[in-house]
Amino acid sequence: MAERLRGRAAVEQRERRLRQHPLCAHCAKVDKITVTAEIDHITPLAFGGTDTDDNVQGLCLPCHAAKTATEGANKQAAANHPDWIRPSAIPTTIVAGPPCSGKTTYVSKHSRPGDTVIDLDSIMMKLQPGYRHWSDGLHQSLLNSAIRARNAMLGNLCRETKGQAWFIVSAPSEAERRWWQTKLGGEVLLLHPGVDECKRRAAARGTPRAVAGVDAWEKSALAPWRPPASRAVRAAVGLDGWPVDAS
Ligand SMILES: [Zn+2]
Repeated sequence: MAERLRGRAAVEQRERRLRQHPLCAHCAKVDKITVTAEIDHITPLAFGGTDTDDNVQGLCLPCHAAKTATEGANKQAAANHPDWIRPSAIPTTIVAGPPCSGKTTYVSKHSRPGDTVIDLDSIMMKLQPGYRHWSDGLHQSLLNSAIRARNAMLGNLCRETKGQAWFIVSAPSEAERRWWQTKLGGEVLLLHPGVDECKRRAAARGTPRAVAGVDAWEKSALAPWRPPASRAVRAAVGLDGWPVDAS
């Protein structure tokens, strides 16, 4: 791996690159003008990219966080509540509710071609074809990759220009739904046909885990919910593109 510049030389290199790349490259692709916050290695150094001028670009913080989120080098647990996301630039509906409350059905009925649908379950099924959350149980590493991909999609909503966004999330407590709305904007739609009906549907689908999931949702709905403590986007690949653990 290339030698990393340190001290004064590193600061000067960063300042020079910020002058060369004053605007976010990802935002520019959709004709949006955003000031660079981070110098990003296009191919991350941890993946063999070089620390040369032809491998760097400027990115704003949300774009950089979204890119880092998809790079998968992050060994840390993905954030369930990514506090770096910015408000959606298109009309957005946050569809919340317990298991089997009809969230997916509602969105497929009301969304149009070209809309952005963000749904953890369908991301997991894409990452691992055949996977069924309520029958297969929780696969932590699959879930982690799926949350990362979901967060990247949420992070990109601030640059979306076409259609509407539909974000499917369980969000049992009112405070959590409000948190998502504060982050993304748009409106919250709570689907809840009642505990008994949700359980009946879950049982009819032959997924006892989902029946239990309805009870768990009800319990969480009554429990206090606090937003996650704000933390910097930390990763095995740091903000400057170098592996954090390479000291
Ligand atoms: Zn950007």
